[in-house]
Amino acid sequence: MYIRELFEKKTVFSFEVFPPKKTSPVEVVYNTLDELHDLKPDFISVTFSAGGSGNGQYACEIASRIKSKGIEPMIHLPCINYSASEISDTLDEIKKRGIENILALRGDINPDIPPKRDFLHASDLIEYINTKGNFDIAGACYPECHPDAGDIEEDVLNLKKKVDAGADHLISQLFFDNSSFYEFLWKARAAGINVPIEAGIMPVVNKRQIERMVTTCGASLPKKFVKIMSRFGDDPDALRDAGIAYAVNQIVDLVASGVDGIHLYTMNNAYVARKISEAVSGIIGA
Ligand code: FAD
Repeated sequence: MYIRELFEKKTVFSFEVFPPKKTSPVEVVYNTLDELHDLKPDFISVTFSAGGSGNGQYACEIASRIKSKGIEPMIHLPCINYSASEISDTLDEIKKRGIENILALRGDINPDIPPKRDFLHASDLIEYINTKGNFDIAGACYPECHPDAGDIEEDVLNLKKKVDAGADHLISQLFFDNSSFYEFLWKARAAGINVPIEAGIMPVVNKRQIERMVTTCGASLPKKFVKIMSRFGDDPDALRDAGIAYAVNQIVDLVASGVDGIHLYTMNNAYVARKISEAVSGIIGA
């Protein structure tokens, strides 16, 4: 089933998982996946070599497993480090497995790995995928601006190119301040971007995540968030509960504001995904 069809019917609620390190067996995520299936999200997306981890070979296998359990999978596909023929082979594999939904991405540029130059942007990949078959294609978007773009106006103009190239819907980078998402949404709609946009929510439930957030993702941290993190940062149970409550609050406000969907970065933590799903189940379905 094409994920784009879901947005016509409901507020979409999706999960994201990542494959294990390439040195670990793929089975290590299967227990988590089984628990996530029980929560009946609208779809589960699987990252592909995110952060240059090189664990892309597992992504197809995990997406197949998700499909075999009756949940729609979406496979992420970064292109900057792959040639057209490598992408073509991966698309053949995706098709063979009956996976119909792809999140088309450029991928992060690693200063130590010279990019293959067949695809410079996600928009190039989207055009290519469309020549290779009938897929539902999603793209990424950045409420607080992609770090390579000069400013948010330039980034939104580039996002429009991605949608014009054929992106059916978009998933946002994580953010902790809903007002930054609403501002971005306004700019995107004003630029003529009319496809559904899911809000990316990451529950921050441990200290390592906070440190990584601050150094890598560039999301602004509202005062309320900083206060919670500094008060509970050294108490793992309290931080986990506070992180879940913060994410639930964000979701309630987003759904009340009419968001197209919520994409939960589960970090492969089924306990946290369950707590959040239970807390918002009536709200998402309302
Ligand atoms: P692009 O859309 O190509 O944008 C990159 C930059 O180029 C932006 O600054 C943009 O403004 C500019 N730009 C875009 N199109 C054009 C154009 N046509 N002309 C000129 N400039 C343009 N990475 C992984 O490796 N694996 C994953 O599984 C993965 N999953 C992700 C999931 C989500 C929801 C998100 C938000 C990101 C994910 N990433 C993943 C990270 C992503 O690959 C990086 O953020 C990367 O730096 C940008 O990818 P993109 O597809 O947004 O790139």
